This record gives sequence, C-alpha cells and structure tokens, in this order.
Amino acid sequence: MFQINENYQKLPGSYLFSTIAKKVAAYSSANPDKSIIRLGIGDVTQPIAPAIIEAMHKAVDEMGHAETFHGYAPDLGYEFLRKAIVENDYKARGCEIEADEIFVSDGAKSDSGNIQEIFSENNRIAVCDPVYPVYVDSNVMAGRTGTYDPKTEMWSNVIYMPCTAENNFVPEFPKETPDMIYLCLPNNPTGTTITKSQLQEWVDYANKVGAVIIYDGAYEAYISESDVAHSIYECKGAQTCAIELKSFSKNAGFTGVRLGYTVVPKALKCNGVSLHDMWARRHGTKFNGAPYIVQRAGEAVYSEAGKAQLKDQVAYYMKNAATIKAGLQKAGYTVFGGVNAPYIWLKTPDQMTSWEFFDYLLENANVVGTPGSGFGPSGEGYFRLTAFGSYENTVAALERIKNL
Ligand SMILES: *Cc1c(COP(=O)(O)O)cnc(C)c1O
Repeated sequence: MFQINENYQKLPGSYLFSTIAKKVAAYSSANPDKSIIRLGIGDVTQPIAPAIIEAMHKAVDEMGHAETFHGYAPDLGYEFLRKAIVENDYKARGCEIEADEIFVSDGAKSDSGNIQEIFSENNRIAVCDPVYPVYVDSNVMAGRTGTYDPKTEMWSNVIYMPCTAENNFVPEFPKETPDMIYLCLPNNPTGTTITKSQLQEWVDYANKVGAVIIYDGAYEAYISESDVAHSIYECKGAQTCAIELKSFSKNAGFTGVRLGYTVVPKALKCNGVSLHDMWARRHGTKFNGAPYIVQRAGEAVYSEAGKAQLKDQVAYYMKNAATIKAGLQKAGYTVFGGVNAPYIWLKTPDQMTSWEFFDYLLENANVVGTPGSGFGPSGEGYFRLTAFGSYENTVAALERIKNL
C-alpha cells in the first residue's frame, strides 16, 4: 500500500482569500445595490506595457517560421535575458553578479517554494511575522517545521521574528540560531522595508552564524528611498550567504505572463559544496525553461522604452499608495508602508481585531482589504490595503473611508 507525504496533512487550511471571497459574495448578494471596491488581493491591474507587447508579438511571429522557431529553452535561461538582467539589475548597481549566476524561472513563487529542496531537512528556518505564506508552507511540506499549534498559529520548529510597529517592522536577530532566514524586502504584507546598513547587519549575522538568507526582492522596483538596497548583493559579503529571488510580476505586470529569476552566487558554499551547482542540477532536472516568448518579453523590460513605460506604471501605483496613506492619516489612522512598496499597513482603530475591521470596512464603506492576522499572529490588529487598483477606485475608496 502506498503512503502519502504525511507532511501535507499537517498544513492548516489556507482560508484567508477564500474567506474574504465568501464574505464579499454574501454581502453583495444581500446588498445588490452597493458597489464594492477591492483593495485586497495583491494582483496588478495595469495592462502589459506597449514595448513589452511589441517584443512578445515579434517572438510569437518567430515561432511561426522554421528558421526562427525556438524549442526547449536552455534550462537556466536564454543568454540575452541573463545578460540584460546582470547589466541592469546588478552591474549598474555595482554588484558583482555574473550572467551564469542567474537562473531564469517562471516566477518567484515557484522559486521561493522550490529553493528549500537543496537544503537539509534538519535546517531550522526563521521567518518574519507577518509573512508571505509560501516560505512556511513549502517547508511544512518538506517536514522541516515541527508541529502546528492552532492556538498560537505557530509551528514548533520555526523561528518567528515579529515585525510590528514596536520594532518599526525591522526584524531582530532571533535568540535561537537559524540555518535559513527568509527576508522579503520591501515587505509584503507590511509595505515597510529596512535600510541598506540594517540589511548589511543581517548579512554579517548570517555569515557569522553560518546561515543562508533567502532574499525575496519581488518589490524592488517600488523602492523610492536612497538608503534602501535594491539587491542584497549591494551588501558586503552577501555572495557567501545569500540567494536572491526576483520576479517580473510586480514591476512589469507579469502575474499572468510568468517570469522570474533566482541568483545563486558561485561563492555560496556549504562545507565546500557549491549551492550554485546544486540549484543548476535541480533546475535542469525539474524545469524545462521559461518560454522563449516570455523571455523576449522579459528582455524588453530592460529596453529604453520598456524602462520608461514601467517607471510610469510603478509611479501610477505609487500615486495610489500615497493617496491611500495620506487619506488614512487624515482620517486619523496610524499607517505604515506605502513609500517603498505598493502596500499600506494600517493599525485597526479602537482595538478591533483584523477581521472585525474587515467586516466594518466592508459593511460601512464597501471597501475590501486583507486582515493582517491572515499573514501571521503578529499581523493581528493590522490591515493591508493595496495600491494595485485603479486611481479612480482608490480615490473613491478613500472618500468612503474618510466619511465613516
Ligand atoms: C507577488 C510576490 C511574488 C511574486 O511571485 P511570482 O510567482 O513571481 O508572481 C514573490 N514574493 C512575494 C512576497 C510576492 O508578494
């Protein structure tokens, strides 16, 4: 008789977005005359920029002719894309990353879930709390997290690093020493980030204790402050302790197109074993390359026209973020984030729980957001609004909130 991977049985149901959808559906069927504005889910809404669409069209046409047809892509990505990535995301920022240290993939969610495969089952992970759920869940599936306590909503073998207003959303070095540290900066869900010198302290810490940092830079394009690192490799010593994950989803609207990459420096070793070689082996065995058409689209992200158009797109969302932030502050809320990330993280008023505030906002303002407690116990008492809506809807939502 076969057996299943019992670790999957340990996973608590992920009810966050389905509960939100159910509550919104129930409210709207009871109140069909109300128009609901959704500032909840972290998906982009602006269309793909023209320079990218043009590149995709061209690549589609190439696929229709024998002379320019492309079959399987190289496992680790086309040279044209890896070069564009290295030149623009690394060399231009003074980071010494080479094209053969870039592994092109179908997105950062898969990479952040898959990367744990090359590490021992006995490693102890540390995560920020609140957190992007993939880091923890993928480690649960691998049997690395111990047992789940529904009361505390915590795993016995995970080190949690609370990020709250009390510590300015800057994770502190944990008391117990972790082996793998997940950092997402700028952060989803809190919309906050840390300075380059604070990140340098984490790099120094990881090198000192022999931990690896899994650095999720999905929101890098939204950084507006000059003292924030665009890559962890801007920090000295990061090449020997950090893996960086990047995505084209939030900077270029590729949530439905699918493209990302992971950087594993050759200098990253564990007892002489190269993690670069291990990830190359894993990638080559289990992944057959991101589509040619999509990699051409990715290349266009770095073209002059592409860069200009995407700068406008990011500015559009960040104008929404500023609108939400200023509007909420005016209405008396305590607000965080929204400066280097498209998320606003607000303190719920009057000691409301995250879900109480969700219901209050849905019923009284017809605005949908995301309860902070859905991202971890330290998210309780907070609430996330996203800047990914249209400007018109964002303004309208804030008018409603101000009038409460
Ligand atoms: C949106 C997001 C990603 C991007 O995932 P893709 O699979 O590339 O779309 C990665 N990490 C975080 C924290 C995100 O919010």
